[in-house]
Amino acid sequence: MKIAIEELAGCSGCTISVLDLHEALLDLVAQADIVYSPVIMDAKEPPEGIDIAFVTGAVRNEENEARLRLLRKRAKTLIAFGTCACYGGVSGLSMLGKQEDLFACVYRGVETADEGNVVPTDVPPFLYRAFAVGDLVKVDYYVTGCPPKEKFLKEILPALVSGNRVELSKKSVCSECDRKMGDVKDWHLKRRYEGIPDREHCLLGQGYLCLGPVTFGRCNASCPHNNVPCHGCNGPSLDILREPCRDIYNMMVKRIADLTDLPQKEVEKEVYDVAHTMYPFTIGSLIMEDKEISKIRDLVKGAGN
Ligand code: SF4
Ligand code: SF4
Ligand code: SF4
Repeated sequence: MKIAIEELAGCSGCTISVLDLHEALLDLVAQADIVYSPVIMDAKEPPEGIDIAFVTGAVRNEENEARLRLLRKRAKTLIAFGTCACYGGVSGLSMLGKQEDLFACVYRGVETADEGNVVPTDVPPFLYRAFAVGDLVKVDYYVTGCPPKEKFLKEILPALVSGNRVELSKKSVCSECDRKMGDVKDWHLKRRYEGIPDREHCLLGQGYLCLGPVTFGRCNASCPHNNVPCHGCNGPSLDILREPCRDIYNMMVKRIADLTDLPQKEVEKEVYDVAHTMYPFTIGSLIMEDKEISKIRDLVKGAGN
């Protein structure tokens, strides 16, 4: 069994999440060889005959696309691994800026920039937009998470390597959250830094924008559990993926309106910075953009791309 782990436009955190399995990693490598992983070893190109390829990161430039297509040819099974690969992830947010502004920020606007602040000319050109892996090639399995969580990986990795089926939860973050709905009165949307949420009641009911209702679970609602609203890092919940008329923005507005008895128009007035609050992990996904009611098209156009 030969395994490859590829890095496209991402932060390498998904690969690190595999290394963070510690002893469980030994069970994995007892059954399979990791033959290619630029983060783990000095390997420049995936070999032929890969059994399982894990692709991390979104597709943002020409090099990402070429590497993805090569891996698809060389791998029997290809897994979009992590939310960047599945839905564009935070890499998709790059569509909100122009390439020259992004490069200026990365190569000039930081303390670690080279002397002379020269923007290199040999960086692979951007594609006209960010893509999720499944927008460009056939994907056999999607493993979401930014990065995928340890408990979940310990369930799926042995099953993938042994070829066994495993039953996984299909619930949303809310379904995994044990907070109770408290009184909802004088509701208005708070910024994350406003006040300290109480630890017992639903964060959305308290006015914090918690994306739990529209987000795929398998993380044990770890952020609400630690008193932090869910910001959607596992990607969209199953109902949103399946139903063309359901989108993250419209389902959140509807959920808040149901909860507060406010008209949806009033709720919409409270929502701020839609790109970063509603679509921080999905803006680079064509599946999400192609929904008729999606706000993504307008957000990207509004950014001048
Ligand atoms: S999904 Fe998250 S952890 Fe994985 S590459 Fe993207 S940003 Fe990094
Ligand atoms: S909205 Fe957030 S805090 Fe409320 S139940 Fe869902 S996950 Fe928990
Ligand atoms: S609660 Fe939300 S943001 Fe936190 S890990 Fe789970 S899906 Fe990600």
